[in-house]
Amino acid sequence: MSKRDETNRRPETIAAVHGVATDPAFAAVAPPLYLTSTYAFSGFETPGRYDYTRSGNPTRDVLAEALAKLEGGAGAVVTASGMAALDLLIGRLGPADTVLAPHDCYGGTMRLLKARAERGQFALRFVDQGDPAALAGALADHPTLVFVESPSNPLMRVVDIAAISAEARRVGTRVAVDNTFLSPALQCPIALGADYVIHSTTKYLNGHSDVVGGAVIAADPAEVEALRHWATVVGSVGAPFDAWLTLRGLRTLFARLDGQQRNAMAIAQRLEAHPAVSRVHYPGLDSHPGHAVAARQQRGFGAMLSFELAGGLAAVRRFVTALDMFILAESLGGVESLVAHPVTMTHADMGEDARAVAGITDGLLRLSVGLEAEDDLIDDLDRALHAASAA
Ligand SMILES: *Cc1c(COP(=O)(O)O)cnc(C)c1O
Repeated sequence: MSKRDETNRRPETIAAVHGVATDPAFAAVAPPLYLTSTYAFSGFETPGRYDYTRSGNPTRDVLAEALAKLEGGAGAVVTASGMAALDLLIGRLGPADTVLAPHDCYGGTMRLLKARAERGQFALRFVDQGDPAALAGALADHPTLVFVESPSNPLMRVVDIAAISAEARRVGTRVAVDNTFLSPALQCPIALGADYVIHSTTKYLNGHSDVVGGAVIAADPAEVEALRHWATVVGSVGAPFDAWLTLRGLRTLFARLDGQQRNAMAIAQRLEAHPAVSRVHYPGLDSHPGHAVAARQQRGFGAMLSFELAGGLAAVRRFVTALDMFILAESLGGVESLVAHPVTMTHADMGEDARAVAGITDGLLRLSVGLEAEDDLIDDLDRALHAASAA
């Protein structure tokens, strides 16, 4: 496709219009959806730019370019899910390698890392990355890759990505950051020193709860090539139609997050003042232990938060049953507000012991705050909190 000059274009512009009006065939303004598995050779022994959709597709490439530009990377590989993105990244590791992961990472991430490690693919260590001494100790063993999630799921713990990246660089360890909870609209890990960013594009990047997808972005062009090659080998690439939908969702990323994080802040403040709530985890609150780091390394505090009901599991049941606006569902990052109970949903597979270590209690609830009217959301929460308190 022909290119428009994007030198010095700001991220909001990249998200809104990357690939727009570049169609060489009909000058379509919206980038076309190329639903094809294969491409005709232009002659004997002369393939065109594309030969087969597992290795390349023009629609998927527009999305990959947009994501790479937004994250400040050299390139991106668009995958079939967030888990496929993580598996792509760790798939090239071998038995001599060690992965250092946060002790409170996303449940699916923990399950995949453990499954690969149990099969002898690499060594795996978990560490509290918010504990500088523990982290320094683990880095002294020269792990191959440090995997970082900030803010973490579901407790919204914030770690200093620039500090971890600097420490890791000193010992020759690469850093990968799962940027799903904020998206490049609010945090750019590569600018903070990370080597890779992974995404579940299912969440904010698509933003409409109608696609499961993922992406890996790498800072180093040679790593982009290696990841592209590996994605072609294992075939974990995303479908063109999913890429087209995700690109459409990406157009409004900044506008969506603006409104969603405004709602989230109002809700966090409301929850913090309520007697039925014992604790609120939102990096935008002064009371949050990671507030200062978040204010420094993020462009906003995001639209995810979690909180603990003082009444434990019984209160959770009453609260969730009384909600109307907030939908009880896994996933996050869409325009509709969702509520999840980590112990019985997203983190059920993690096991009681690991949950206790990570601090995930029975009374913990996670909110993905959507784009509805702030007052509708607050009214709904007020009603449900009242129901939760009525023992
Ligand atoms: C959802 C999620 C994933 C997994 O992504 P899928 O698209 O569901 O495979 C990974 N990391 C985080 C932080 C997530 O929220």
